[in-house]
Amino acid sequence: MLQAKRESQITFLRSDLIDRIPGVVHGFSTRRAERDDFTQGPLSSSNPMIRINRARFVAAVGAIGWPILKLKQVHSGIVCDMDDTKAAGDAVEGDASVTSISETLLGVQTADCAPILIADSQSRCVAAIHAGWRGAAARISEKTVARLERKFGVAPGDLVASIGPHIGACCYEVGPEVVREIADPDAIERHPEWEKPHLNLGVANRNQLLDAGLPASQIETSSLCTRCRADLFFSYRRDGEPTGRMLSVIGIEPRQ
Ligand SMILES: [Zn+2]
Repeated sequence: MLQAKRESQITFLRSDLIDRIPGVVHGFSTRRAERDDFTQGPLSSSNPMIRINRARFVAAVGAIGWPILKLKQVHSGIVCDMDDTKAAGDAVEGDASVTSISETLLGVQTADCAPILIADSQSRCVAAIHAGWRGAAARISEKTVARLERKFGVAPGDLVASIGPHIGACCYEVGPEVVREIADPDAIERHPEWEKPHLNLGVANRNQLLDAGLPASQIETSSLCTRCRADLFFSYRRDGEPTGRMLSVIGIEPRQ
């Protein structure tokens, strides 16, 4: 389950599954901070509260001073290796990252797409994924697990994954091209009152993680819908552009 926490004036969510792993820190931000939204307006906004709230969030998850390694997210299936802290930046395109370096945070930004955090139970490596429908169609969750296996020699059975808040099937009407490209009937929901099919992004990604070898008991999915819960989350479908973004992070503590 994901639990809401409030620390350093920031409201964020933490996964019980990942919390049980010693040596790994993580968190899913909401939009809520003490004096203002967590982020506000365009990503390039010069509002100083964005930086202040981000620093508070990093402090709240227990990672004061750690750099946040982010990517230029392009709704792809690209998985990037973060082998040193210079490997990141808005110039590097990709939608998932993996690392074994300690004292750095992998970060993804979302406003309806699913943020997914993965940790090895021995805290040898972690991953962060940004998965909207295009990422899911490109099977980015499955590819990220394969990268962790190949690069760090971990077994999928040793990984836990938390699928954070995303737009729910309740609100995610999609067209026939999405149904075709997702190619997973479990992830498509239909209802007599709905004109078109709806996509369940959580199920699509969960199925990929199962296919990649994670045990069902080691995958959890947030049931919070970003579009329904305007009190907690930004939503691109609800608010349009410009809207803010939630930030989700995961990292490894220094070895003792
Ligand atoms: Zn909804």
